[in-house]
Amino acid sequence: MEKRYTKSTLPEKDCAACGWPFAWRKKWARDWDDVKTCSERCKSELRRRERKIRIAASKDCNVAGNASQSQSSAGAGAAK
Ligand SMILES: [Zn+2]
Repeated sequence: MEKRYTKSTLPEKDCAACGWPFAWRKKWARDWDDVKTCSERCKSELRRRERKIRIAASKDCNVAGNASQSQSSAGAGAAK
């Protein structure tokens, strides 16, 4: 009767930020599907990277459509 409780039975993923494989942890039991990084550090790193990509992509889109005029108010109204 030997217990088969090895690490290799746990699901593994590759960290999306640093690329290292990491194993399932109990704290991720609920949202293992959403876990993409091995640590909080990598999580923020990944977020930063994604933001950069998104900004780069949205810059391409905004080149053509920059027709939003902000209301310029001449502040000369002294009504109370
Ligand atoms: Zn990582």
